[in-house]
Amino acid sequence: MLALQKHKYHRVGNHSAVKRCKWFYEALTNGRACYKQKFYGINSHQCIQMSPALFYCTQQCLFCWRAQNGDLQIDWDELNLPNWDPPEEIAQGILKAQARILSGYKGHPKTDPQKFREAHRPRHVAISLAGEPTLYSPLGELIRTLHSKGLTTFLVSNGTLPQKLSELDTEPTQMYVSVCASNEKVYKQVCRPQIADGWKLLNDSLAFMPSFKCPTVIRSTLVKGLNMQDVTGYAKLVARAEPTYVETKAYMHVGFSGLRLGFDDMPSHEEVRAFAQHLSEKTGYKILDESTDSRVVLLSRRDKPIRFSQSQ
Ligand code: SF4
Ligand code: SF4
Repeated sequence: MLALQKHKYHRVGNHSAVKRCKWFYEALTNGRACYKQKFYGINSHQCIQMSPALFYCTQQCLFCWRAQNGDLQIDWDELNLPNWDPPEEIAQGILKAQARILSGYKGHPKTDPQKFREAHRPRHVAISLAGEPTLYSPLGELIRTLHSKGLTTFLVSNGTLPQKLSELDTEPTQMYVSVCASNEKVYKQVCRPQIADGWKLLNDSLAFMPSFKCPTVIRSTLVKGLNMQDVTGYAKLVARAEPTYVETKAYMHVGFSGLRLGFDDMPSHEEVRAFAQHLSEKTGYKILDESTDSRVVLLSRRDKPIRFSQSQ
């Protein structure tokens, strides 16, 4: 737990956590914002980055920034699931944790006073920090609870639990499925599934994606030399999922990923853009926007992204 505290994870209950996002800090003190503010209108200074399944995942992706079993000489079974905390407890816990994080900015010489005031009213929850959130059984109820508190939600899943996605009784505001390989061989090498049939299960989730009413996203985290070939394979997966958007994004050498990959494994923004351009040609999805800071490119069949207005 000390290692997680060092990495600024704030534990909530038995298996959830909030982590201050770099962009929360940047928005409050330097007037900068993350690409989700640029693309979708999600205010970085009013965003809570959390996970309801911090220690649990069906994959061990090389690029993951979370601590995995075996890292730091600590072993645990990532699929030995705990008794889950109730959604309301998690919702209240993450709001309290975010308030604690925010209190550290009082008196900070660079804090923008208006943003500081606004940040006391979080408007968005990124359910994407670490771990596979669909392992948390009452996920639909958690999403419903967060929405009832006036929060929007972006849910990021690795897609290995299609059954859970199909059973979600409340959809998030926007649904992400990560696609970080174009074929099974690369999937096994990069995403290192801890379950049988991970690739098939991911493909089942992709086939299910068109039935979501909310906007959907395929997000591909790109690692130089590992999963940036075979754009045609990626295009086939996009055709299956028919997502509202595709986000192609560079691997970032942060967190515990440093134990598995090197600094040079990060593609440049130009390399990510070239990949996106190639994917655009293969899929008919247009490049709508990009952020050089985060090395991410947004593609869609829409002319512009749907923006979620976040009143202050
Ligand atoms: S949307 Fe994501 S990147 Fe942006 S502030 Fe929230 S957690 Fe950070
Ligand atoms: S699926 Fe997500 S949480 Fe799990 S190992 Fe991969 S990046 Fe990390």
